[in-house]
Amino acid sequence: MYIVQIASECAPVIKAGGLGDVVYGLSRELENQGNCVELILPKYDCMRYDHIWGLHDAYLNLWVPWFDAAIHCSVYCGWVHGRVCFFIEPHSEDNFFNRGCYYGCDDDNMRFAFFSKAALEFLHKSNKRPDIIHCHDWQTGLVPVMLYEIYKYHGMEYQRVCYTIHNFKHQGIGGIDVLRGTGLNRAPYYFDYARLRDNFNPFALNFMKGGIVYSNAVTTVSPNHAWEAQYTEIGSGLGHTLHLQQDKFSGVLNGIDNDFWNPKVDRYIPYNYKQDDFEQKLYNKKALQERLMLRYADKPIIAYIGRLDHQKGVHLVHHAIYYALAKEAQFVLLGSATESVINAHFQHEKQFLNSNPDVHLELGFNEELSHLIYAGADMIVVPSNYEPCGLTQMIGLKYGTVPIVRGVGGLVNTVFDRDYEQNLPPEKRNGYVFYQTDYLALESAMGRAIDLWYQSPEDFRKLAIQGMEYDYSWNNPAAEYLKIYDWIRHKW
Ligand code: ADP
Repeated sequence: MYIVQIASECAPVIKAGGLGDVVYGLSRELENQGNCVELILPKYDCMRYDHIWGLHDAYLNLWVPWFDAAIHCSVYCGWVHGRVCFFIEPHSEDNFFNRGCYYGCDDDNMRFAFFSKAALEFLHKSNKRPDIIHCHDWQTGLVPVMLYEIYKYHGMEYQRVCYTIHNFKHQGIGGIDVLRGTGLNRAPYYFDYARLRDNFNPFALNFMKGGIVYSNAVTTVSPNHAWEAQYTEIGSGLGHTLHLQQDKFSGVLNGIDNDFWNPKVDRYIPYNYKQDDFEQKLYNKKALQERLMLRYADKPIIAYIGRLDHQKGVHLVHHAIYYALAKEAQFVLLGSATESVINAHFQHEKQFLNSNPDVHLELGFNEELSHLIYAGADMIVVPSNYEPCGLTQMIGLKYGTVPIVRGVGGLVNTVFDRDYEQNLPPEKRNGYVFYQTDYLALESAMGRAIDLWYQSPEDFRKLAIQGMEYDYSWNNPAAEYLKIYDWIRHKW
């Protein structure tokens, strides 16, 4: 199958969060399973050019219709760790992708409406006719809209679209200027509730809603999150739209890259290990204690790795630190906050706890240290308020680090409580789950994990090794996406 992914991120060249990991990991596995995959991305000034190999001109004079004129673009091609990527660079006063950032500009909706238009224009003009166009998140929600309303009439009537939503919180809101810019025009037609009109603001167009309505298949990143999005407030107002489109909506669990996240071969950790030489993990624990200047003590290490924001349940992260200390455990936090209030709060905590030999808070983004933490910690806590899929619990499992998670989103599909999971035999359970957002709920799960570590070390070790046996690679998710692609190719 010939598949083109259109996205605003692809790790490691453009990564702001999990989206980048997914776009890269899925493309790689689809290729491994015998498909031809190409990616179309914006050419940002601030992306990691050191991860692109052989960047060269691919289409120098692409004129993309925009308002009543056209913007001249150049398209470059290069390989990102083996994946073929096309980067679109517009030349106009708008300077859409030369802003020193990926997102966060006042005109983000116009920037990505333009990118969506340019990606389709590139496919059209370069005579590329993929079987499947796979788009991601609000940034590319207008791709299926323009494909079916404009490009279908220019020789692209057989292309089918799969649209994946990674986060319902950001939906892309625009007004009439988006219609004029992209050439969709016909405001009364698109401001219809059945098309792009926002479900709550009648004067706004919703890009993500457009993506849902016009795509042939819509997915989100875990089966449980697909349910939550339809039936709870987590759909951020799109529940009704998803409900109307439920025949084509499903959840496909993300995977993790087996070459990058694998204690057997990880080059960032001092001692590689697997299930049958699990004791090696202890040496990584010592290395972690040494690196972070924790005291060598026979105590469990509990870790948190992730963004520090409302989504991740920061009040519980904060409480977990003190509860761990009270229960004679050590705590390691690696996280970055974009909100200044949260950042200041954790900076303050860091100073306050500075002299405590059982805790270390590392504020910032540090890929290399994250690997050592996954390998050296005994448990990883993920107390999210909502979590579409979540990668840290899956990485933790792969490294024999027992996850303690709140039962939301993809965490429900990946972590099964050792004591209470009814649907699995004990030898298939892999962690601890709590459900409420109060301190007591968190304490009950952390307490059970810490008690097992102290009172039944052999059972704790068994639990950690059981977790390592789960296959959360891209193997199965890619096969599921291929089934969806096949289905939409033959259904329409
Ligand atoms: P998100 O909601 O941020 O996408 P995920 O759990 O899906 O959360 O993915 C988070 C990814 O980012 C994981 O690979 C995790 O190891 C990594 N990560 C998060 N914060 C940091 C950090 N401060 N330093 C290093 N890696 C981090």
